[in-house]
Amino acid sequence: MHVVIVGLGLIGGSLARDLRRAGHTVTACGRDAARLAPAREQGLVDAVAEDWDSALAAAELVVLGVPVGALRETYVRIRPHVSAGTVVTDVGSTKGSVVRDIAAACGGHLPAHFVPGHPIAGTEHSGFAASVEGLFAGRRVVLTPTADTDPAAVERVSDLWRQVGAQVLTMTPQAHDAALALTSHLPQMLSYTLMGQFAEAGDGALAQLIGSGFRGMTRLAGSDPVLWRDVALANRAQLSLALHRYLERLGELAAAIDAGDEARLGKLFAAVQDAHRRLPPA
Ligand code: NAP
Repeated sequence: MHVVIVGLGLIGGSLARDLRRAGHTVTACGRDAARLAPAREQGLVDAVAEDWDSALAAAELVVLGVPVGALRETYVRIRPHVSAGTVVTDVGSTKGSVVRDIAAACGGHLPAHFVPGHPIAGTEHSGFAASVEGLFAGRRVVLTPTADTDPAAVERVSDLWRQVGAQVLTMTPQAHDAALALTSHLPQMLSYTLMGQFAEAGDGALAQLIGSGFRGMTRLAGSDPVLWRDVALANRAQLSLALHRYLERLGELAAAIDAGDEARLGKLFAAVQDAHRRLPPA
């Protein structure tokens, strides 16, 4: 299959590597073709498009690998140039906003050829230099088709993700956003906040006293600020609910600590340790 990836970053670049290994032809479209030349030289892609329009016309599948805040504009840019029968999908971390943005650009309905998607795989690094082979192996990819989506388009996208080792799930955009607010977007915000508190303390000597726990908890704070600004805004209703519930729980914890409530702390920590033990293996 001929796949065009618009936005050859961490996710787009990693997908390109695996798709080429699976025998597909991959063309990259970026805002600056010259900057993507190394991707061609390193064999990540078959071609880097100088002319987006003719590359898009030849595509059977187009993957939009851009930040969620840029999806609408990117879709509007590519839409007139994709052929009938070409399927378009995205990899954005939020899904309600993507469905709304793309539908709004198309007179209120999600076009039948557009399959909203989100691979639950990634790292705190960005750009195609950070892309890796095998990023999606054993990972889940959530697709959130709507009543307007062509089932054959969903199948084409599902098949592609399965070929790179992922397990495909479908759910509504709302269910996706509520779940990911807790499992992905909230941890990101907590990591930023903890790192911010450390930076505020501003004491160079503190850096000598960092252990693996602090490193682990703040790893996500090294992520791209634009990407996460977009995600926080795009999923703000669900993220806000998750943040406020977290604040309540933190308040309960602070109250138990302030009161020196040994029994309450012991019970709370034992309950979460038990929940942690029941997590499925990574
Ligand atoms: P990334 O490494 O920064 O790559 C995004 C690419 O999009 C860039 O290389 C850039 O390519 C292009 N781009 C950036 N800003 C743009 C703009 N304003 N307009 C048009 N193109 C733009 O980001 P990523 O981590 O791969 O994330 C891409 C998408 O995957 C995002 O929607 C994100 O929510 C989602 N996602 C990320 C992760 C993760 O862990 N990072 C996981 C799952 C899903 P050019 O400069 O060549 O145009």
